Amino acid sequence: MRLPLRTRLTLLYVTLFAIIVSAWAVFVVVLVRADLYSGIDRALDSRASQIALSLTGSVEGEFQDITGSTLVGVAPTEATAQLLSATGTVLESSGDTMSVDPLLPQSVIAGAFRSGTASVHTVVGRDGETFRVLIVRMTGLDQLIVVGTSTDTADASVQSLVFMMLLSGPVVLLVAGGAGWLLARRALSPVAHMTATASGIGIEALGERVPVPPGNDELSGLADTLNGMLDRLETGVRAKRRLVADASHELQTPIAVMRTELDVALASGALQPEAVEVLESAREETDHMARIVRNLLTLARFDEGTLRLLRQDVGLRATSEEIVASLATLARETGVTMEVSGDEVVVLADPEYLRVAVVNLVENAIKYSGVGSSVTVEVVPVVSGATVTVVDDGPGIAADALPRIFDRFYRADGTRGMASGSGLGLAISREIVEAHGGRLEVDSRVSGGSRFTLWMPTGQGPAGLS
Ligand code: ADP
Repeated sequence: MRLPLRTRLTLLYVTLFAIIVSAWAVFVVVLVRADLYSGIDRALDSRASQIALSLTGSVEGEFQDITGSTLVGVAPTEATAQLLSATGTVLESSGDTMSVDPLLPQSVIAGAFRSGTASVHTVVGRDGETFRVLIVRMTGLDQLIVVGTSTDTADASVQSLVFMMLLSGPVVLLVAGGAGWLLARRALSPVAHMTATASGIGIEALGERVPVPPGNDELSGLADTLNGMLDRLETGVRAKRRLVADASHELQTPIAVMRTELDVALASGALQPEAVEVLESAREETDHMARIVRNLLTLARFDEGTLRLLRQDVGLRATSEEIVASLATLARETGVTMEVSGDEVVVLADPEYLRVAVVNLVENAIKYSGVGSSVTVEVVPVVSGATVTVVDDGPGIAADALPRIFDRFYRADGTRGMASGSGLGLAISREIVEAHGGRLEVDSRVSGGSRFTLWMPTGQGPAGLS
């Protein structure tokens, strides 16, 4: 699963921040530890110098007193001093109990004796305690001074620093994560805005544009690019709609002329029966073509918003009866019986378009229900409107086809060979009904017949269409 960009940005930010903070913490700890150890080393150095200074010209027995005074304030278990012979034998010792044995290995002692330079070593005592130990040869003497101090205090300080960092680290990361999340949200909010607007822009709302965030950055550039793309799309879609409208309009006249000429030819009476058959078939196809062109023109006008409804009082029952009467021939030929039920209800509608919407439903019911079926047109008054329901007891519509039957040019499987049609009828009916502020719904099951319900409001429809 891909996480949202905001989450990914925050995670990246927190990870980077954690790496930087960890590196910084390690650097600080190492620096503090080195600083503390160098402080210890400096103290050891000055102690060794003090002891050497005091011992020069003094008798060896005074070692205890000298070291005692130089190590003043330091607990005996944390400090130690030794006076070693050239061979590494402990001549004198004071402080920590471990100082009775040489604190440093013989090789180190021998090296220090040979080189004569001071060196500092880290030594782990018998009880696991760590010491910083300085060894230096006394100038002009065959003796070495060894001074050591436990690093416990310094180590404890470093440990408490580490502990503090470990404790505060998650809190710092949490705060940084929260801040990162808010920052990412703020930075991406124009994108969310654009996404919401862009997802609402469909073929019906091509005039809308995504908001352009202020400034001259990548986001405003993206918004400008999107808007530029929408401009081009709108121009293209408008041109396509214009073409369909113009083409349908231009086709109407030649089709009408063809229809008239076919009528004239068929009326002549001097034709062979085969020629009559061919011309009648041509006339049928011309009618079909005329219907398609008319439908396309109606849809193009809806799309362009140039279609105007001329509303007036229309009786739904009277309209239904008139439609049933006009389709009686088709019903008879198909072997379908029809009836209209319900009382008269008057609605405010464009009678021509309302007629087209209902005709499509009744025609479909006749075409698709088949021989022996019955079709009923029911007019029922409902709250703030009325319904015209066209019910048939035909084969019904498959569940997978049902959501698509109002799509343009959609015809359910098996329908194509069954009856003539273009797949535009229901799309047009729905456009007409919705333009009046009404609704067109279907309820159908395979073998259970179909039921198309057209709901019309008794009041005024949406503004701008009347
Ligand atoms: P057309 O009738 O020109 O094919 P429509 O848009 O009127 O186009 O209908 C779309 C499709 O819906 C039809 O092709 C048909 O498959 C299905 N249909 C519509 N009405 C009915 C009905 N009463 N019974 C069964 N199928 C129907």
